[in-house]
Amino acid sequence: MSDHTAATEPAANPFATARQQIDIVADLIGLSPGIRDVLKSPKRELTVNFPVRMDDGSYRVFTGHRVQYNMARGPTKGGIRYHPGVTLDEVRALAAWMTWKCAVVNIPYGGAKGGIVVDPKKLSVGELERMTRRYASEISPIIGPEMDIPAPDVYTDAQTMAWIMDTYSMQKGYSVPGVVTGKPISLGGSEGRGEATGRGCAYVIREAAPHVGIKIHGGTVAVQGFGNAGSVAAKILHDEQGAKIVAVSDTKGGIYHADGLNPHAVEAHKQKTGSVVGFPGAKAISNAELLEVKADVLVPAALENQITGKNADKIAAKLVAEAANGPTLPEADKILFERKVTVLPDVLANAGGVTVSYFEWAQDIQGFYWSLEEVNRRLESVMVRSYKEVHEVAEARHVHNRTAAYVLAIQRVADAIRLRGIYP
Ligand code: NAD
Repeated sequence: MSDHTAATEPAANPFATARQQIDIVADLIGLSPGIRDVLKSPKRELTVNFPVRMDDGSYRVFTGHRVQYNMARGPTKGGIRYHPGVTLDEVRALAAWMTWKCAVVNIPYGGAKGGIVVDPKKLSVGELERMTRRYASEISPIIGPEMDIPAPDVYTDAQTMAWIMDTYSMQKGYSVPGVVTGKPISLGGSEGRGEATGRGCAYVIREAAPHVGIKIHGGTVAVQGFGNAGSVAAKILHDEQGAKIVAVSDTKGGIYHADGLNPHAVEAHKQKTGSVVGFPGAKAISNAELLEVKADVLVPAALENQITGKNADKIAAKLVAEAANGPTLPEADKILFERKVTVLPDVLANAGGVTVSYFEWAQDIQGFYWSLEEVNRRLESVMVRSYKEVHEVAEARHVHNRTAAYVLAIQRVADAIRLRGIYP
């Protein structure tokens, strides 16, 4: 048995949750205690405390982390988050989940994550830039195209990545576009990265539909969270697969129309007014109601912890595709499985984003850029293959897709550790 017994760790700690998940799958596939312990331990962690000159001339010390969870399958990959609630345990958990996500879609990466404890809304652009550059400089000994490749996450964006790329390149003395992904296209970003998460989600929905007994063409879809991931998924399901988008929502509330909404018109309305709410001809609904709307497919694309023990028995959809990270609580998972609602878990359903990040890195390091068609064709092939593999494990083991995805991922990482052997 492992000495990292999950039961002694507080349940609210995300890293404790991440380790419990490893234990559950390790029991299922009979992993040896040694490999289990390797999988439950972050390989490398760096915490940095560094000063930044503020606009008023004062200095402020910030704390940042970078955790490289496991690199048995390749360089590590994962976003950088700016948030006042960042903790080392949260970064560890997110880095573990990135490890599994990369393994589910079988791209040659391990998982990492980084973060700075900061409320970025309280900084000027100049302060943000100086903080980002200093953090990039502090973690530069452990990042790089062959070691660890950061990307945007909560409250970081393409501009943040441009600053990190420039800082790292200044230290090297030459441009290193492959050190980060999610860059502006003019600096080596990839075509199609912006819509990759929603597009990948739409592909796995299409693949799962026949197994669930629903038709996407003419079928109905509800999308919670009409942001990057959700609005793109809605547009692709509507435009390319002929689905009727009957309900969408954002922080201000939701809208419903039984005959279907045009997601492009809804987007234009949101751009004009700041919300989907008030879209002409649609009925106003709450975010809670959106989750329970009568639709074939539900796409949670907003926040974590949306489908809970309280509302899981009211979900009307037959297929739930998690564009968001962590929208379904474990107790809800159980209820959905018993009710035969199929869930496409986040590590699969939103892995289109990291997949095209991998394509961005691959293009950067070979200095040869692909067309949008090429990117989308390759993305489709990764998503279709990954869905098929997860589905096969779920069928063979009689488990739900989330467990199946974890089985596939943890098995792949464990195999890589075993094959490489323990050094020395
Ligand atoms: P975003 O900020 O572009 O969009 C989020 C949307 O959710 C916004 O429309 C917001 O109004 C809405 N929202 C927020 N709180 C809500 C609530 N309580 N109820 C309903 N709507 C609410 O963010 P995004 O990039 O689309 O990310 C959404 C989710 O997808 C997150 O969980 C993120 O981790 C996940 N994700 C995104 C990517 C990506 O490439 N963008 C990749 C992987 C996972």
